[in-house]
Amino acid sequence: MALLNLTDILAVADKHNFAVGAFNAIDSNFIDAVFDAANVNRSPVIINVAEVHLPYIDIYATADYIKKKAADSGLPVCLNLDHGFTFSTIETAVQCGFSSIMFDGSGLSYEQNLAQTRKVVELCHRYNISVEGELGAVGGDEGGALESAADTALYTPPEQAADFVQSTGIDALAVAIGNTHGKYKGVPKLDFARLTQIDNAVPIPLVLHGGSGLSAEDFRNAIARGIRKINFFTGMSQAALQSIEQDVATTALVHKYNYYLIMMENMQRAISTTVAQQMAIFNSIHKAELYD
Ligand SMILES: [Zn+2]
Repeated sequence: MALLNLTDILAVADKHNFAVGAFNAIDSNFIDAVFDAANVNRSPVIINVAEVHLPYIDIYATADYIKKKAADSGLPVCLNLDHGFTFSTIETAVQCGFSSIMFDGSGLSYEQNLAQTRKVVELCHRYNISVEGELGAVGGDEGGALESAADTALYTPPEQAADFVQSTGIDALAVAIGNTHGKYKGVPKLDFARLTQIDNAVPIPLVLHGGSGLSAEDFRNAIARGIRKINFFTGMSQAALQSIEQDVATTALVHKYNYYLIMMENMQRAISTTVAQQMAIFNSIHKAELYD
């Protein structure tokens, strides 16, 4: 199966009331772990490559590796540029064969966000690449502090969302309803009434960033109110770190010749377990069969 764009992968999710997890790829361990979880559970999956992670990875090689894994899996897979900020990165992602682009203009004024998002849509739609936009601002910074809290002043306004979607022609909208990147400071509280208002105001699927740290109940509520793509990364890196810390503390393991390989394998398994748990919560398990 060729890579799917966001519109196609989320249309099935919308019809069958589930969400597709978008998991960040930062190296082959993370990519292998996500594909292991997707393969075992026959789940559709979105692989995110974030612009903020590009100083650490080779986007060309990473895209090729993901495309190979996607083709081998035979699963519905979308390759998405996560939080694209610059046109040069977006053009590179288009060249690399990404099937979806997120343009993050949330730090701009409304007019600027609208104008630039529309430009990205014009470019991407020429190649059948879908575009996710963001209105309001999700709390925290992907490259910033581990813990953050959401700012209610930056929540997505439902009326403006309708205008934004119509004027830009985007295919999915990332909302700010109390969700934040990284770990949550205190107990997260999502504004579900606002989410329902946004869902009623716009005809396209909604996206929830900052999936790590929300409860299973939060996710179920969010999915019932129109969330179809859920970004999840911090929980994966936390699982990886915990596994490494545990192995480093195990004396018997440290004395093994292939210690690093064992550690890497354990880390991959920890990431994969976390991803599989999220897929179960997002209700995307065994949903690959719904795509033809
Ligand atoms: Zn995000």
